[in-house]
Amino acid sequence: MKQKFYKSNRIKKYNIIKELDTNINSKDKITGLYNINNFFYCLKDKKNGTFIKVKLIGFNFINLTYGVKYGDEIIKQISNQLKEIGNNLMISRLSGTRFGIYIENIESEDIKQLIDKIFEVIININNSIDKINIYSNIVSITYKNNDFNTEDAINKLKQSTLNTIKKGFNKYELYNDRYESYIDVDSIERAIKKDEIVLYYQPKIDIKNGKIKGVEALIRWFNKDYGYIEPDKLIGFAEDSGYINVLGKWILKKACREIKEINNNLEEKIELSVNISQYQLQDKYFLKYIKDIIREIKFEEQLLKLEVTENEKMESIEKIHDIFEEIKSMGIKISIDDFGKGYNSIDYIKNYNIDEIKLDKSLIQYINHNPLFIKNLVNMIHTTNTCVVAEGVEEEFEYKTLQKIGCDLVQGYYCYKPMELNKLLEVVKEDAI
Ligand code: C2E
Ligand code: CA
Ligand code: CA
Repeated sequence: MKQKFYKSNRIKKYNIIKELDTNINSKDKITGLYNINNFFYCLKDKKNGTFIKVKLIGFNFINLTYGVKYGDEIIKQISNQLKEIGNNLMISRLSGTRFGIYIENIESEDIKQLIDKIFEVIININNSIDKINIYSNIVSITYKNNDFNTEDAINKLKQSTLNTIKKGFNKYELYNDRYESYIDVDSIERAIKKDEIVLYYQPKIDIKNGKIKGVEALIRWFNKDYGYIEPDKLIGFAEDSGYINVLGKWILKKACREIKEINNNLEEKIELSVNISQYQLQDKYFLKYIKDIIREIKFEEQLLKLEVTENEKMESIEKIHDIFEEIKSMGIKISIDDFGKGYNSIDYIKNYNIDEIKLDKSLIQYINHNPLFIKNLVNMIHTTNTCVVAEGVEEEFEYKTLQKIGCDLVQGYYCYKPMELNKLLEVVKEDAI
């Protein structure tokens, strides 16, 4: 009961911790670490430090298979090993599978080392008990101007946690490094004007005949001072600042215009896939601007596919089902990106009228270990008439196996890397011969 009480009141408690919880529960019963109340109370006078949040993944399976007691035993082992990392760390069990760690005045370059040590703890546990597989995602935030604030840290780390989940398991993010200070709305707009920000295109190959069936638009930013700025940083900034709706519209319009131009010279037209951020789906003008762009450019809607990444946030978007239906009623296709990475909802295959599922690179690499698993997954997806794309195909072996398995499309360095528009023009011309 107590456990449940804490869980349901967790969000509120971030704001209302005023007194030190002096009863027996001030320590976590299983691990002897600070409990969340006590921990936050002790942090309230801190000024400069780093807050690290560790999320463990895999315990549902352990608890279900081997029992909760066994899961608790592993949690205890993990916390004992975390304690050994250093006695200058304050460690708390924030909830069942989340740990909070606070350290005063640590140098930026030492934070990464500390995070590596935490990852090592999890690796050690996995190596010492061969029947379990635990993953972890770690995020951290550092305060250097006497402005440490637990509530602020927790709120900012929520977004960082989502970012790492999007990247997969065993990923980390340092909040300070999330995007460099030179990335802001002005610098993006200047870069667009100067053609520093452009779209590259990566072909999607029909595995039956080896021909280009379509392309995916991927944003690229080459800055003369800072070099290549990763799409994750640019898109991450745009999402956090709300600018994604402006940038996303620009991407969609530019991609439609460029591919329309290419298609004008092709007998067999190619499809265009555009990545759509979950934040765009939440924009009430989203559907309207898609309609406007298609009308303005006269882009054939049946050639347009929107790639949406599945994650836990998406399930919380109100009326996501209706938005998908409306997109489909416009003749536009929907693709679920990064399937098999982090959040997997079979629901999308079963209950949504999805046109395409993109199997994440990590699943494709799994072909080496268990091709039958991938084969069955592809077959299962095919039962709902959904097209299956394999992402991140780098090896001939993967390509050949996917061909045997009956996967529909492949994308990856083995076939083509993302390329600039002029190069794509040459490649599709050659491909059409
Ligand atoms: P994504 O949509 O999953 O795109 C696939 C990523 O994998 C791309 O990284 C691509 O360059 C890379 N890739 C393709 N083939 C291979 C391969 O064989 N091996 C490996 N290792 N990687 C491969 P990129 O361009 O860095 O983009 C990263 C992510 O940024 C994208 O992941 C997407 O989520 C986001 N992104 C990129 N462009 C856009 C955009 O225009 N709009 C939005 N909303 N997001 C974008
Ligand atoms: Ca994509
Ligand atoms: Ca992907």
